[in-house]
Amino acid sequence: MPRQVAIVGAGVAGLVAGRELARRGHHVTLYERWPDVAGQASAFDLGGGVWIDRYYHHLFQSDSDMIALHDELLPGELEWHTSSVGIWARGRVWPFVSPMDLLRYRPLPLVDRLRLGYSVLRLTARTDWERMDDIGALDWLRRASGERALASVWTPLMLGKFGADSERVPLAWLWSKFRLRRKLRGSGATKEQLGYPRGSFGAICQALAAEIRKLGGEIVVDREVLHVTEDGPFVLHCAGPGAYRRRAGEAPAEPALDGRADAVLFTTPTFITRRLADWPTDWARRLDDWTYETAVVLLLELRRPFSSTYWTNIADSKVPFLGLVEHTNLVPPERYPARYLYVSNYVAGGHPLTRMNTEDLLHHYLAALGQMNPRFDRNDVMRYWSFREEAAQPVPRIGNRHRVMPFASPRRGLYVGNTTQIYPEDRGTNYSARLGREVAEKIAADG
Ligand SMILES: Cc1cc2nc3c(=O)[nH]c(=O)nc-3n(C[C@H](O)[C@H](O)[C@H](O)COP(=O)(O)OP(=O)(O)OC[C@H]3O[C@@H](n4cnc5c(N)ncnc54)[C@H](O)[C@@H]3O)c2cc1C
Repeated sequence: MPRQVAIVGAGVAGLVAGRELARRGHHVTLYERWPDVAGQASAFDLGGGVWIDRYYHHLFQSDSDMIALHDELLPGELEWHTSSVGIWARGRVWPFVSPMDLLRYRPLPLVDRLRLGYSVLRLTARTDWERMDDIGALDWLRRASGERALASVWTPLMLGKFGADSERVPLAWLWSKFRLRRKLRGSGATKEQLGYPRGSFGAICQALAAEIRKLGGEIVVDREVLHVTEDGPFVLHCAGPGAYRRRAGEAPAEPALDGRADAVLFTTPTFITRRLADWPTDWARRLDDWTYETAVVLLLELRRPFSSTYWTNIADSKVPFLGLVEHTNLVPPERYPARYLYVSNYVAGGHPLTRMNTEDLLHHYLAALGQMNPRFDRNDVMRYWSFREEAAQPVPRIGNRHRVMPFASPRRGLYVGNTTQIYPEDRGTNYSARLGREVAEKIAADG
């Protein structure tokens, strides 16, 4: 029987779930706190209708759900480009795509390079991910690749991404990154092809939103959901437009809104979902158990290329960022008015970098950028923006599969579908699309 379903959050998961439910004849309403859809996959206009993602994005060839969505809604728009990956160590970038690159990685003695390569082969050949979920990634790597490889390659990468939690990250998480996402194609398996949609990742989200509206669904943007109560149907208490972006003390411009629904899907991060409804104690404890790393991203618009590499991991503790992503070294620069370089960091919530303004962030990074490329000059930077995402990376812990929550909460009619439920794969648009589809199937089946 068709039902009224409310979805909190219009990121990829919410949009895919909304479309699936609308296709099945349900009446869907999406509520989004930002003035536009797409969440972490959102983009902005550089001028003249040229869009770029707030956070750097690409697809792997194994990202079948996102590829299928593009084939269906934006045929021909998803393009594949040759990627280049490197590691910054000992004052230079070392290419790091093929087995040959690993053999040439001189910061590590040859015997350790061989051991490192063999350990990655052993890891990717495994299929027993549940056993690997009970083992710490760094612990296994210490034994399999040796202390020197750990110190030179693995620890900087894991510390950069998970900070103090690195030691508790399960091997299954790392395994899925190698096994499920990376596929080398091309001559001698030395090239990696990555997907990027013309018009940015925002385009597929706009296409999904248009589909939902065409099917009779509604998308209410600029409406932060504050609380969900039950009064026969569920009641969604929403703030007035602009409330989420308004500073404390400013008066609301328009009155709040109450929405009604027979079922509610929360695609919000666990710490938000926790405060949006009254949950039974055990469920609330499971929501509270999750933490996330915050992404702090500075995007630079440059007069000239910064490097010749698309993706550079940093294995140098003196550099104050985790990675550089030079978007216009993947997607042809002719598509854009200039060159675009993302400077990326993942930090714990509340870290000083999360509070730094854009100007200070640029200033904080300039010296290291200049060391990495002595020809780089502050005057190369034409415009710059910074973005912060509190729920960028859920932190997995040993035994993580037991922490993953089911879609249906103990409160009948309330569902959760967020990035903590993606496992052992790492979070990504592809898996939010899959999750959106699966949670919609569950809601539809529950009738
Ligand atoms: C730096 C970075 C790089 C990434 N790189 C890649 C990549 O290369 N490839 C890839 O596939 N993925 C990448 N991702 C991950 C990908 O963007 C996300 O996993 C995916 O977009 C998450 O979608 P979602 O719908 O699950 O969550 P979100 O996009 O977080 O959607 C949740 C939505 O809920 C809204 N919301 C929250 N609270 C409320 C409320 N109270 N009321 C109303 N609305 C609310 C939010 O505003 C948001 O729009 C990257 C992410 C980051 C941060």
